Amino acid sequence: MLRTDGRPPCPMPRYDLHSHSTYSDGVLAPAAMVARAAARGVDVYALTDHDETGGLGEALAAADDAGIAFVAGAELSVSWDDLTIHVVALRIDPDNAALAGGLAAIRAGRTLRAQRMGAALDEAGIPGAYEGALKFVTSERLISRTHFARYLVDAGHAASMKDVFKRYLVQGKPGYVPHRWAALGDAVGWIHAAGGQAVLAHPGRYKVDRAGMRRLLTDFRDAGGDAIEVLSPSHTRAQFAEFARHARVFGLLASCGSDFHGPGESWTDLGDLPDLPAGVLPVWNAW
Ligand code: AMP
Ligand code: MN
Ligand code: MN
Ligand code: MN
Repeated sequence: MLRTDGRPPCPMPRYDLHSHSTYSDGVLAPAAMVARAAARGVDVYALTDHDETGGLGEALAAADDAGIAFVAGAELSVSWDDLTIHVVALRIDPDNAALAGGLAAIRAGRTLRAQRMGAALDEAGIPGAYEGALKFVTSERLISRTHFARYLVDAGHAASMKDVFKRYLVQGKPGYVPHRWAALGDAVGWIHAAGGQAVLAHPGRYKVDRAGMRRLLTDFRDAGGDAIEVLSPSHTRAQFAEFARHARVFGLLASCGSDFHGPGESWTDLGDLPDLPAGVLPVWNAW
């Protein structure tokens, strides 16, 4: 049958390899995420909660019921230079001790950071933000800036999530607390120890110039990184092509993911990305 949406008549399987549940800063439980992915035509779905694998069992069981392929993942917080970068792990064994220990260490740092964020907001005239953010936390194991952002919107300090991250919680603004996350080499090492692939998440988001991006991609590849996210809602169409080029030049595989956090909060829904640009090798090439 001819399709009118521009996709080929015999479409490739649809992959969504980046998303968040209530085990980190998403708004839907893992089973609800899987059901939504299946309903939206995703064939291969990865749950990649921040620094956390606790939701993978529930998601895997739901994927078996829904008849879609499930990829066990996580999104690791990493410090590189003075920047925070994110590394998505795909096809990991969540029971691997090196990975589990590394993730536990990253999560432990989040609690003290959050208390410092609360103190910094207090100094800026917003008292009670730590306690307020806790009301939005959905897993006792993890607190993130997203939970502060939801509280700040709810309490009327900002109009939207986008507005929060312009006015608060980012470098130079109230509530920002510098933090040291995992080292890049450690993060990639844990992912590989757990049998997974390491994917540089949304590279277009990092505030680096062209030379800085080349240095980041070089360091990532030299650390053993496997792939970069070419398709991400953080990227423009021009960046889809730019990062496809980088993938080819640096010999990295290409990945794609919606980074969906929940209805009403993420504009790009599960499965809502185009096909990968021609000329790249997909991260699922050898799956
Ligand atoms: P954290 O890992 O605690 O630093 O929190 C980072 C999270 O904040 C990201 O994963 C996003 O979910 C969220 N975030 C960061 N920047 C923005 C933004 N501009 N708009 C909405 N959410 C954002
Ligand atoms: Mn997030
Ligand atoms: Mn991220
Ligand atoms: Mn993410």
